[in-house]
Amino acid sequence: MELITILNQCYKQKGFVFQAANFVGRHHQEIEVSIVPRKNTKANCSGCGKPSPGYDRLPSRRYEFIPFWGFKIFLVYAKRRVQCGDCGVVAETVPWARGKHHLCDAYMLYLADWARKLSWKEVALQFRTSWEKVFHSVEYVVNWGLGHRDMNDITAIGVDEIQWHKGHRYLTLAYQIDSANTRLLWVGKDRTEATFQSFFDQLGEDAIKRIQYVCSDMWKPYLKVIKQRASHALHILDRFHIVARMNKALDEVRASEHRAMRQDGYEPVLTKSRWLLLKRPENLTQLQDTKLQELLQYNLKSIRAYLLKEEFQHLWDYVSPAWAGRFIDQWTTKVMRSKIEPMKREAKTIRRHKDLILNWFIAKKAFSSGVVEGLNTKVKLTVRKSYGFRTFKCTEIALYHVLGKLPVPELTHEFY
Ligand SMILES: [Zn+2]
Repeated sequence: MELITILNQCYKQKGFVFQAANFVGRHHQEIEVSIVPRKNTKANCSGCGKPSPGYDRLPSRRYEFIPFWGFKIFLVYAKRRVQCGDCGVVAETVPWARGKHHLCDAYMLYLADWARKLSWKEVALQFRTSWEKVFHSVEYVVNWGLGHRDMNDITAIGVDEIQWHKGHRYLTLAYQIDSANTRLLWVGKDRTEATFQSFFDQLGEDAIKRIQYVCSDMWKPYLKVIKQRASHALHILDRFHIVARMNKALDEVRASEHRAMRQDGYEPVLTKSRWLLLKRPENLTQLQDTKLQELLQYNLKSIRAYLLKEEFQHLWDYVSPAWAGRFIDQWTTKVMRSKIEPMKREAKTIRRHKDLILNWFIAKKAFSSGVVEGLNTKVKLTVRKSYGFRTFKCTEIALYHVLGKLPVPELTHEFY
């Protein structure tokens, strides 16, 4: 069986013929497959796509195809230029590669698929290609996907921010969180009002109208924009973020108390207590549980803060918004008397946003914290894996690629 036969089987190109395959390179490590236009077929204008009369030929160019058995494969073709009635003299378009790309689209899809599983650097190493080629492949697939995705099924969205690079630089992320479809919809630089406004601008009024639920944290610019752009939707404060804030407050209490005790020469009982206090009790190992029971005997601020945090968890068990509201009132009153500043600060915040927190009960707990939390974890993982990316563009593309559930251009043959 010849290479041409195989190519005709898996990568036949309408209007073109695979002519011959030859080894090239000093050690025959590459194979070139020449392509010619099928007789009596017109070239398609790259401007408008219409078949047009030929003008001349450009020098031949190599298009890299999926390597196999240790050989690099190139398709070689000299593009025709056409005399198009509308576009003038322009190059033809070829079905195996887009625009100025030097990679066949099958190869780009192949690399992009691997780039979902490995880092871009690892993909480049594995297939003996460059990081840039992997990047361009992913970029091509992502841009195609963004142009072809369906935005009509969105009824619930969530907004979240993550820290990006060092210092206080952030990305704003908008997700679809419908139970039938959770995906990353949008990535924006910073976490300002303007950032989040541009998400709504891009979404468009029709899609905005269909939104029934918006989940967010308590970041003021987000709250403001949601009020402005999606006031018809039920705005829910996300449980995951409330719990995360409270854990942060508790950690502050523990750290400052630990420091103070050490300075005053007390036995450092809080050493290595951090995870004991932050973990849910049901997730502790037996050894950790024993240590926690010991800690609980001390009358420490950290312990009182811990007990308040644990008590607050009961909120999520309520069914009726009214009873949940009463619980919030009682709990916050108790915290305000506790004299533990970071916890008091959280109690005030919770009071101020009580209505938005209660909306979660009005939505019948439809949006579990797991959804946003899960997406947040995946985003952080992707950003960490791609820490070599200097630019926003790279990070954005990587995030869409991994979390956007974007449609992928289809080929007639699966190359795996
Ligand atoms: Zn044209």
